[in-house]
Amino acid sequence: MLTTGPRGTRDILPDSSGYWQYVENMIREVCRNFAYQEIRTPIFEHTELFLRGIGETTDIVEKEMYTFTDRGKRNITLRPENTAAVVRSYLENKLYAGPQPTKLFYIGPMFRYDRPQAGRYRQFHQFGVEAIGAQGPAIDAEIISLAVEFLNRLGLNDLKLLINSVGCPACRPVYRTKLQEFFRDKVSQLCTDCQSRYDRNPMRILDCKNETCTEHSQGAPHMVDCLCDECSSHFTGLKEHLTAAGINFVINPRLVRGLDYYTKTAFEIQYSPLGAQSAVCGGGRYDGLIAECGGQPTPGIGFAIGIERVLLALEKQELLPIINNAIDVFVAPLGAETQAAAFQILTELRRANIAVDMDFINRSLKAQMKYANKYPAKFVALIGQDELAQNKVMLKNMETGSQELVERAELVHMIIEGMEK
Ligand code: ATP
Ligand code: MG
Repeated sequence: MLTTGPRGTRDILPDSSGYWQYVENMIREVCRNFAYQEIRTPIFEHTELFLRGIGETTDIVEKEMYTFTDRGKRNITLRPENTAAVVRSYLENKLYAGPQPTKLFYIGPMFRYDRPQAGRYRQFHQFGVEAIGAQGPAIDAEIISLAVEFLNRLGLNDLKLLINSVGCPACRPVYRTKLQEFFRDKVSQLCTDCQSRYDRNPMRILDCKNETCTEHSQGAPHMVDCLCDECSSHFTGLKEHLTAAGINFVINPRLVRGLDYYTKTAFEIQYSPLGAQSAVCGGGRYDGLIAECGGQPTPGIGFAIGIERVLLALEKQELLPIINNAIDVFVAPLGAETQAAAFQILTELRRANIAVDMDFINRSLKAQMKYANKYPAKFVALIGQDELAQNKVMLKNMETGSQELVERAELVHMIIEGMEK
């Protein structure tokens, strides 16, 4: 137990943290481009928020939450996703009083009691965006376009964008009835989950991953054929905007989110080389959610992208960048008496914002040179007994191999000059 982390968790080690930084930098760059600002909310919230904000009939709430009672007897849950928390923060901090829409992004860990496998973990990370306070399809297209742009800039191009409309509380009840009629004779043959979904939330039968359920839902009526005028023109508007932006999409009538506060646009982005866990992005509109959480009725839309899946895709396609750990200078003390002087040089260089390391474990000269080369270091500053006595340093340029004896007082200046060459 002491040397094994909990199942479904992973360490991000130094050999891959550079890839995470690369992806996170891309997120910040794209969000800046699209004028979305970062929000950071706590990783735990009152359980009630997720019961309301995600819905009691979803897999997340039914099976996947990390919930506990804290010492003050509060019911707490580690966030399984972040939309509900962002909406909570939007209301608590009255972000609606600022210019609208409120355009936010977040990056951070989420927690779900999922079955661990490639691309599926119990602590995983999402990058998500939320646009709260805009109603028309243009913002839906902006949100989708942001996700696509982010993935494209990383080099992921063969994306499959699936879109659908899940209607609204005006047109969905009619559809729900139609769907129940369609499944009436088939209920007993569906999986046990879907049998309970039949009454509680029949739309979710459509996204069941069980093969038998998939077969039985062939020929089921489509929500897009039952939309009210408002939802229908919203969907048409979305398609027009996506087309105008040159973003390819496929309509997938099985893409559903069966809760009342999920409305109109639902979308998913798949990257098929990932195989079983091919969904990299899921999103949609939630015009009923803010009121559900106690605010004034306010429209909203967002998505979440799984960062681990993005990294898996980048690795698979050999799109990971080369991470540069190079340093400018390696300070090499030769003998214990020179350590303090070496440390002083190291400190001076660092104060001048030069990337520096030194030997801390009394390596031999040969081993220090080898170590410096591994970084690689552009210069090695050697300080032995003689150099110490003369207040000098032997500065070796590792690229040219040339070396010269320099005054210690000159060192920072010479290195800055040498780096500019
Ligand atoms: P799935 O059907 O794969 O379980 P989901 O519908 O639960 O996905 P969302 O809640 O829409 O996923 O989350 C958005 C994205 O977060 C997913 O597309 C995926 O990239 C990522 N994701 C979700 N669950 C996990 C997990 N357990 N481990 C890693 N990434 C995940
Ligand atoms: Mg899931």
